[in-house]
Amino acid sequence: VDTATHKPEQPPMKFDAQPSETTSPRRKCVLLRRDGFLSAIEDFTTPIRDGLGHPVGATIVFHEVTAGPSTALTTPRPPGDECLTAVLHPVLLNGELAQAITRACSQGNQAAVLFLNLDRFAHVNDCLGYTIGDELLRSMTKRLTSCVRSSDTVSRYGEDEFVVVLAQIERVEEAAICAKKILTALAEPLSVAGHSVHVTASVGIGIYPRNGLDAETLVKNANIAMYSAKDSGRNNCQFSQRDAGARAIERRSLEGSLRGALERQEFVLHYQPKIDLRTGAITGAEALIRWQHPEQGLILPARFISAAEDCRLIVPMDQWTVYEACRQARAWRDAGRPVPVAVNISSAELHDKGFFDDVRAILEDTRLEPHYLDLELTESALMDNPDTTMVVLNAFKTLGVQLTIDDFGTGYSSLSYLRKTPIDTLKIDQSFVNDITANPKDAAIVSTVISMGHSLGRRVIAEGVETQDQVAFLQAARCCEGQGYYFGRPMVAARFAKLLQTTASASGLN
Ligand code: C2E
Ligand code: MG
Ligand code: MG
Repeated sequence: VDTATHKPEQPPMKFDAQPSETTSPRRKCVLLRRDGFLSAIEDFTTPIRDGLGHPVGATIVFHEVTAGPSTALTTPRPPGDECLTAVLHPVLLNGELAQAITRACSQGNQAAVLFLNLDRFAHVNDCLGYTIGDELLRSMTKRLTSCVRSSDTVSRYGEDEFVVVLAQIERVEEAAICAKKILTALAEPLSVAGHSVHVTASVGIGIYPRNGLDAETLVKNANIAMYSAKDSGRNNCQFSQRDAGARAIERRSLEGSLRGALERQEFVLHYQPKIDLRTGAITGAEALIRWQHPEQGLILPARFISAAEDCRLIVPMDQWTVYEACRQARAWRDAGRPVPVAVNISSAELHDKGFFDDVRAILEDTRLEPHYLDLELTESALMDNPDTTMVVLNAFKTLGVQLTIDDFGTGYSSLSYLRKTPIDTLKIDQSFVNDITANPKDAAIVSTVISMGHSLGRRVIAEGVETQDQVAFLQAARCCEGQGYYFGRPMVAARFAKLLQTTASASGLN
């Protein structure tokens, strides 16, 4: 059986060859055995001739490739070879896995399947091109193989997916330790063709026998767990849960439904006020997307943003959000209540080639002055490709658009990067604000960020403000702005307009 991904590497057998001319081995063949297992084999062909030298048949010898680690068919090709690590045929993978399971069974051990997906790999290809993407995959494969034992199997499973089979583990924790080792190795910044690229991955772990007794089930369950890892913020690993099957189906149908929802315009924006902590005036509004589902009612972004990012629907979705928020800001301005509107921009959108031009066109279309638009970017989105991002940010600054770092404190932006970026505002993540009155460490972090922000000449806003005590703490720490349920929950545009009428706005502050 030729694996589907490979063409035979030599011309068809020649019967007029001399008897001594046994063909060189043809590799990358798989033998489907009677017991259902697959074996990696080579074949040699020798012609049989009659007494006059005429070919009358051929002898074909199959030889099992047993030497070396089980990665023989799947390890990266040598340097210089143009091809990438072969994408392993799923049939072969299941065969390898089945063998690993048999070994684990006979020795009373467990086996683990790690399903690994490179986070946002499509953006690397989009931003830097396929040549760099391929180069990156090669380096990632090398790093992956260096993290496992020779008895383990590393296989490429899809464009940006790998399956690692840990053939023998004694304790389940070993799989998590290995997964974390892999995540650390992959996360090391990589220099490719003059670009510093930072790649993270999400890993799902399936354990034999706990999460499946056959290869197919194990890979499927590890795949589902990988989606949980993505949902919990990426760059982490998650063990398979037995009841996870339903979630995977939900996820797949969710991606389909999102497409339809965008076409049918089922998304709406709610607006949450940002408040000046000294005067109580409204300084801005943050636009937050919701899905007005015809049957399920209002769905919050936590349930669909990550799926939208994975199927790249986030780019048109964010474009719609920017347009709708600018249109609304212009309407409030025309009604005599000007207020800047902040929009959350995903990493995919920020790194989309047309992003800057699209936003400029939207501002022109809606006739909104650029300083009424505030783009909220997370630290990880900024750090995805810091050099190119800096060019885009500077362009927005020149245009007059405001820029905010959202969820500040949860990412890895360096102080020197912060000093260089033309960011107007740091928005302290709500996880620090939650406990400022109870946890001295969080209180210290928040105070430090506020004074650091001010020394760098940035505005600082605290999000997730829920209590009067938190407000008092922030005021004492000289934080200028706050946002949270204490001041107002996200609300429909009409209600926000009423709030604007009853509360003073402080757009001059911006
Ligand atoms: P975010 O940008 O950090 O938004 C703040 C989230 O905290 C919002 O959740 C908001 O409703 C919630 N929140 C506000 N005040 C409080 C509070 O006092 N306590 C608590 N517990 N929560 C508070 P939401 O609307 O569910 O949005 C979640 C995340 O989804 C946002 O986090 C943002 O990252 C993303 N998101 C929302 N809208 C968009 C969008 O249009 N495009 C993109 N790309 N992402 C969006
Ligand atoms: Mg935000
Ligand atoms: Mg936030």
